[in-house]
Amino acid sequence: MVLTQSNRQPIPALAPVANILPAHTPMPLECDACEHEQNYSMSHLRTLPEVACSQCGDKRRFSGFELKVLEDTLNDMGYYISKSA
Ligand SMILES: [Zn+2]
Repeated sequence: MVLTQSNRQPIPALAPVANILPAHTPMPLECDACEHEQNYSMSHLRTLPEVACSQCGDKRRFSGFELKVLEDTLNDMGYYISKSA
């Protein structure tokens, strides 16, 4: 499963200022098995949930490592996720 930014809100490569996103901001995650994209809120992903693909039923657990990569990626783009929902 990979974070993708395709056809979502355009996120500039270099944001001029830090932008705080609410914790319920949907994040698109791509299924490892069929590449179907589903949105999960950051507040949900922070619980490190088991995510199941609605298309092929592939199930996996979202890991703390992936959460860190996701947040680091957003930070690099100038986006920060609010700690509270
Ligand atoms: Zn799938």
